[in-house]
Amino acid sequence: MINKSLAELSVGLQSGKFSSVELTQFYLDRIASHDSELNAFITVTAEQALATAKTADEKIASGSASGLTGIPLAHKDIFCTDGVKTSAGSKMLDNFIAPYNATVVEKLKSISMPMLGKTNMDEFAMGSSNENSYYGAVKNPWDLDRVPGGSSGGSAAAVAAKLAPIATGTDTGGSIRQPASLTGITGIKPTYGRVSRFGMIAYASSLDQGGVFASSAADSALLLEAMSGFDAKDSTSVDIPVPDFSTTLNDSLKGLKIGLPKEYFEEGLNSEVAKVIEAAIEEYKKLGAEIVEVSLPNTHLAIPAYYVIAPAEASSNLSRFDGVRYGYRCEDPVDLTDMYMRSRGDAFGREVKRRIMTGTYALSAGYYDAYYLKAQKIRRLISEDFQKVFEKVDVIMGPVAPETAFKIGEKSDDPISMYLSDIYTIALNLAGLPGMSVPAGFANNMPVGLQIIGNAFTEGKMLNVAHQYQQATDWHKQTPSKYAVSEGEK
Ligand code: GLN
Repeated sequence: MINKSLAELSVGLQSGKFSSVELTQFYLDRIASHDSELNAFITVTAEQALATAKTADEKIASGSASGLTGIPLAHKDIFCTDGVKTSAGSKMLDNFIAPYNATVVEKLKSISMPMLGKTNMDEFAMGSSNENSYYGAVKNPWDLDRVPGGSSGGSAAAVAAKLAPIATGTDTGGSIRQPASLTGITGIKPTYGRVSRFGMIAYASSLDQGGVFASSAADSALLLEAMSGFDAKDSTSVDIPVPDFSTTLNDSLKGLKIGLPKEYFEEGLNSEVAKVIEAAIEEYKKLGAEIVEVSLPNTHLAIPAYYVIAPAEASSNLSRFDGVRYGYRCEDPVDLTDMYMRSRGDAFGREVKRRIMTGTYALSAGYYDAYYLKAQKIRRLISEDFQKVFEKVDVIMGPVAPETAFKIGEKSDDPISMYLSDIYTIALNLAGLPGMSVPAGFANNMPVGLQIIGNAFTEGKMLNVAHQYQQATDWHKQTPSKYAVSEGEK
């Protein structure tokens, strides 16, 4: 089962070769045997998954199923799930049972895709290693001493170890692409506005976007299509049609123009990672693509601008966690101020507090113009850089991250070096553009992802570009040997 594509799983379900209950149980069993060492899940929702699977089987039998009906998945624990704990990786929400479903969850539930559980993540999606979770670090299935990346590390590890065929994630500055790269799977962060943010716990609202983890571009195309679309409940959701991403997967890449930004290959990029990316570009040349050297001159300003804008928005978004309405409340407060201070002080982790403090500072009177407004101006420049490049090329390519997965603990006391992991991913979020990570090989025995960046709402083209590469290579088919299927398990 674990080596089947979503399309093959769908055929298996429709033809009665196996039922959704069997398929779902198969993945629940894998979670039960492997998750104690990976820590990819915060909550496993076995009972609910099997109930949805039963409904899926009924729909399949009565001919009212859609392509993904009956295929189980995992949701990042940032998406609100009705009646199920939704923690965002924080002690603050450890006792929070969401009273409604996020739009993404609702959409996939309405076509009866069983939810296996909620995946581990950095607290409030702040981090690049998943070490900032109240529920403990997630392990990289390729090497249990290493991080899976973050903040959607649980979803990435679950898909990489085949504890779920697909999973959702969110990407504010790289949190889908970077963990996909570090765990050797395919991930797509769509254009801002493509996927509803309703019911997705907010970190930095102008940057947050939900997306997909899968084993291939073809699988990503199916899930992304099912998740996407206008939602009146999200004022930043864009009302344009969602194309059938699968129909263009096989378009030829002859004449495709690929831009390689010189800033993405400069100092700071590990030389082994660079070799993998160069080999991937060679493969694209064989597929008929043309390479154009381009420049994104403000790349070096992306991290400084992001670390003003994202914390500023976070400080405002996280002010709702005050111990009054929901979430953690401290014991025996003496007065209101004491309740606010101790509730927030006890329940937020170090990184979250650091962001709230820097964000509050950047927004305070007297500093707003110097930091926040300036960062917004840089954001505009970065966006213009991309638009100039897209006049000349169809897609941009480069590395996702400067290095492969690092050791757990290696960067935890050095926030700046952790922030630098996102040097190639953050600019896109500032510009609202879509980006993908596609497995492209290994450096020092750890997976390396190739980043594909598209112009707004060109996810179809990007998936086509990724799929053609995956037809010509088999990097995306590699599974860590420990989690590869044994004959008996099939
Ligand atoms: N690592 C970045 C941060 O800590 C991005 C996280 C994300 O995309 N959610 O903010």
